[in-house]
Amino acid sequence: MSSLLHDDEEDMLSEDAFVWALQSAKLADFCSHCLVRRTEQRKLMRCSRCKQMQYCSSECQKKDWTLHGKECKRLTALGASVEDSNFPEDSIRLIARLYEKAGNAEALATTSNGRRYEDLVSHKENISKSGRFEIFLKSYEPFAGNRYDRDRLLEACSKCSVNSFGIKDDRQISIGVGLYLSLSRLDHSCQPNARLVYVGRRVKVVPSKDMVFDRPIDLTSLRHSYIDELQSIDERRRRLQEEYFFFCECEGCGNKKRNGEMEGLGCQQFRCPGAVDEETFTCAKCSSKLTVDEQEMGQMATSLADSAVAALRNRRVSHDTKLQLCQKSIKVADGVLFRANLQRLALFNGAYEACVEMNNWNDAVKYGGEVLWIHLHYRGELDPAVTALQLNVGVAHMNAKQNETARALLLSVFKRLQVVYGKDSDVLRFVGDMCNMLQ
Ligand SMILES: [Zn+2]
Ligand SMILES: [Zn+2]
Ligand SMILES: [Zn+2]
Ligand SMILES: [Zn+2]
Repeated sequence: MSSLLHDDEEDMLSEDAFVWALQSAKLADFCSHCLVRRTEQRKLMRCSRCKQMQYCSSECQKKDWTLHGKECKRLTALGASVEDSNFPEDSIRLIARLYEKAGNAEALATTSNGRRYEDLVSHKENISKSGRFEIFLKSYEPFAGNRYDRDRLLEACSKCSVNSFGIKDDRQISIGVGLYLSLSRLDHSCQPNARLVYVGRRVKVVPSKDMVFDRPIDLTSLRHSYIDELQSIDERRRRLQEEYFFFCECEGCGNKKRNGEMEGLGCQQFRCPGAVDEETFTCAKCSSKLTVDEQEMGQMATSLADSAVAALRNRRVSHDTKLQLCQKSIKVADGVLFRANLQRLALFNGAYEACVEMNNWNDAVKYGGEVLWIHLHYRGELDPAVTALQLNVGVAHMNAKQNETARALLLSVFKRLQVVYGKDSDVLRFVGDMCNMLQ
C-alpha cells in the first residue's frame, strides 16, 4: 500500500496555523514565522526593533509583520527580554495575536476546510466562571494594556484555551502554541488512533496505530489525545473536565484492563507477568490474590512513588538529587508495582531525564530502555510519540558508546520518520547521518 496521500486527503489531514506563537525560550532558535530551526547552515536574523523575534529570511520577516507588528511595539515598550520574568509567555502572545486578528474582517472570513474562526467552540461562560479569564488578564494587561474590547478578548482567550495545540518540533519537544481552524474539531480519546505532528507550523494528523489510515479516510473516526494520556483514569478525567469541560467516556476510559494496568501492582506468583488490581488485589492473569503483607507492601511502594514523583516536579531539586530519589523508590517499587504501572514509569522517566541532563549515558540507557518498554506497551511502535523516544534513547546509546544498539534503534525509526516527516526532513537527515557514522 502506498503511504502517499492524495491531494484531497493531504488537505484534510494537514493544515497551516491561523495564529501561532513560539515559547519564549525557543525564540532564539526558531524562525518566528515558518518555525524552522536555526542550524549551522541556516542562520537567523533578529527583528531590529524589539530584538526578540528571529527570522530565517527577510521574506519570513515581512510576512510575519501582520501578526508581529503590534506585538513588536508592545515588546519594545515593555523593554523586557526573553529571560525576564515579565516577558509574556507564548500563550499570552498567542491570544494577543488572535485578538488583533479577530478585529480584521478579512481574517475572520478566512476558511480552512470550510471552518472559520467563529465556528470554534469557546466555552466562554465556563472560562469566565472558572476565573481563568481574570488570571489571564493579570499577565495580559502589563503587556498589551487595558484598552480592549472585553468580549472580543474573552472570546479569543476562551477559544485558545480549548482549541489550541502545543506545537512540537520533529523530536517531539514543545516549541510553542498554535490555533488551527479545521483540525481543532478532532475529538479526543485517551486511547488515540491518531497523533498530531508538526512540520514547521503546519500540523499533520498521522495514524498512531497503523502505518497509514484506512481508506476512505473519515475525520470523524480519528481521535487524538488532548492531554498526555499516560495518566490514571481519574487524573485524565479531572484534567479533561477542568481544561476542556467534558467528562471523558472514551474507548480508553472504558478499557478496564488498560486502566487497571496503569495503576496495577505486580503479581507475586512465580514468573506471572500479570497486573494486580489495586482495589481487589486480584491478578488479572492468574486470578491469585495478594497476601495482606503483599498488599501493604504494594500500598507502601505506591505512596513512596507518589512522593518521589511530586519531588520530580520541583524545579529547585537538583538532577543528582532527583536521580537518587528515583533510584531509592525504584528499589522499593520494582517487582511490587506492575511493570507498566504509571508511577513506576514516572520514576524510570525521572531517572532517565536526570541522567540525560548529567550526561550520565550508561545509566540513561538503562532507565531509558524501561521507559521505552512501557511506552511500547501502551502505545505501540508506530506511534510517533514512541518513535521520538526511540530516537532519543538511540542517541543516548550512541553517547554511551553502545554503537550496535544505537544503530539498531535508529534504523528502526527511519522508515516511520520518513513517512511522518518526509524524505527531506531535518530529522531524517540527522538519523541517516548517525546511522552512517555508527557503521
Ligand atoms: Zn522562516
Ligand atoms: Zn519585533
Ligand atoms: Zn478517556
Ligand atoms: Zn498472576
